[in-house]
Amino acid sequence: GTSRPAADPEIAEKIANHPCYSAEAHQYYARMHVAVAPGCNIQCNYCNRKFDCANESRPGVTSALLTPEDALAKVKLVASEIKQMSVLGIAGPGDPLANPKQTFRTMELVARDCPDIKLCLSTNGLRLPEFADRIADLGVDHVTITINMIDPAVGERIYPWVVYKGKRYTGREASKILTEQQLEGLAALTERKVLCKVNSVLIPGVNDEHLVEVSKTVKDLGAFLHNVMPLVSAPEHGTHFGLTGQRGPSPQELKLLQDRCEEHDGAEMNMMRHCRQCRSDAVGLLGEDRGEEFSPETYQGRE
Ligand code: SF4
Ligand code: SF4
Repeated sequence: GTSRPAADPEIAEKIANHPCYSAEAHQYYARMHVAVAPGCNIQCNYCNRKFDCANESRPGVTSALLTPEDALAKVKLVASEIKQMSVLGIAGPGDPLANPKQTFRTMELVARDCPDIKLCLSTNGLRLPEFADRIADLGVDHVTITINMIDPAVGERIYPWVVYKGKRYTGREASKILTEQQLEGLAALTERKVLCKVNSVLIPGVNDEHLVEVSKTVKDLGAFLHNVMPLVSAPEHGTHFGLTGQRGPSPQELKLLQDRCEEHDGAEMNMMRHCRQCRSDAVGLLGEDRGEEFSPETYQGRE
């Protein structure tokens, strides 16, 4: 599990009160997500854009968009009501780094007004190298990158296109750019001592065999934790337009793969087994969502 103690005291401090990085902390510390980032710069075949980013969230959920100012007001209100509130994450509903203005403005406001709250971010990684310095300078403690492949031949079955520096790429070229940026971004962050978690969506028959290699590669680049999540295949979510008839993994397949990633070549990777695939506006301890207690009327205009 995720409970292997970190040797480096700096890292130990960073994981101690983040509910997602420490299996112990998740019972005592709360996190919240604010949905400030609507757009996305890539297309995953399992995402239909009507719902929160499927790389971090449970499929089929739609979070209401907030401005950075309203997000700050909500953070302050939640922090005053939930004492264990320790982490603010930006995870959607699209890709946070495809919306840098809203994402960085939100984090700057929270860093200014709530210095005790740790900042956390998840991204598809396409623009990570570009923003690594800014992320580190802001004191962001944790970044989650969704990495489903390191081989463009696998990637082209998952990603129909990416838009990079204003240009649209398709086919294998799209996945080549994506994987290069993801791995470079991961290396840049770990070099800057930002703790990185990698999410991978397990898609049977597409990247299942490949994910062990992904796990090994991201570990070598300094990722601290690997979270293999099941593709949730439900026709009512309207997802998988490019993966027609694609099924999700069984719980046994998921566990087997997590075990294989944990123990490859005798090396050990920390695997996250308690991810709840939270909504991009989740509030509270992991496994509980108190988001409904904090409707817009309770915080809007309250900066
Ligand atoms: Fe959808 Fe997230 Fe993939 Fe963008 S990165 S296409 S929002 S699942
Ligand atoms: Fe933590 Fe997973 Fe929820 Fe993100 S989605 S806050 S990693 S439990």
